[in-house]
Amino acid sequence: MITKTINHIYQGTTPYFVGDGFRVSNYIPGVNNYAGNELSPFILLDYNEPHKFAPSLQRRGVGEHPHRGFETVSIAYEGEVEHRDSTGAGGIIRAGEVQWMTAAGGLMHEEFQSENFTRNGGVQHFIQLWVNLPAKNKMDKPHYQALTREMIKEFKLDDNGSVARIIAGNFKGVNGAASTYTPIEMYDLRLNKNSDITFEIPFNHNAMMLVTKGEVTINNSEKSKHKDFIVFNNDGETIHLNANADSMVFFISGEPINESIARYGPFVMNTKAEIMQAMEDINSGTFGVIS
Ligand code: MN
Repeated sequence: MITKTINHIYQGTTPYFVGDGFRVSNYIPGVNNYAGNELSPFILLDYNEPHKFAPSLQRRGVGEHPHRGFETVSIAYEGEVEHRDSTGAGGIIRAGEVQWMTAAGGLMHEEFQSENFTRNGGVQHFIQLWVNLPAKNKMDKPHYQALTREMIKEFKLDDNGSVARIIAGNFKGVNGAASTYTPIEMYDLRLNKNSDITFEIPFNHNAMMLVTKGEVTINNSEKSKHKDFIVFNNDGETIHLNANADSMVFFISGEPINESIARYGPFVMNTKAEIMQAMEDINSGTFGVIS
């Protein structure tokens, strides 16, 4: 097996607020402006590093907004976010859980800190990732996968409690909880100090990872610490990680979708005409309303 080498390591933008409830650094498009197929199928990644919110009477978050043409995946490490949308669906995303929302043809939704979190305050630690859809699925009916802690299976990496939580794909025979439109691997790696792991990813996948805690050495050479984002080359299959401290790594890879991209705000389509259509549909109310 050939080692997947590192293409480059970078950090997110200066943190800013999305609405008043998410303090994020943006990594995709990020400082390199990867706004096309560079990291396909991943088209946006916002990282809300651990941030403490004081108790409040007023719920913080992002009000009603649309999405069309892709999926939003919310990964909760700490905190509680409640969502509601125009399909009538809603729920709370808690620590250790993942919400995989296929916006596809379009919906309106809102994302706010839960009642409970608002009242008590606390630390929020979150990722939001946008996954592109192939043209043939962009106008599918919207739906959700609410992945609970029980649904996300773990692969035991050593006897010290290090685990890989398999959100999507397959890790050494353990299947991921999410079903995906195109081949995707997504792991929440929880590594204790000195944990030493090796895993394989298909050669043709775009592969990348965000260090969400601690520090790891990659392929026995490059050290990466909390908030570093690592993009691998499509030149091998094996990735080796060694934890220099108790660490967490959010690893993602996927088969690139080689189709044209037209993006505007919350719409990611294939052509400019489809973007215009999305705006028309918003104006004529076909995205629905949150009731
Ligand atoms: Mn949203």
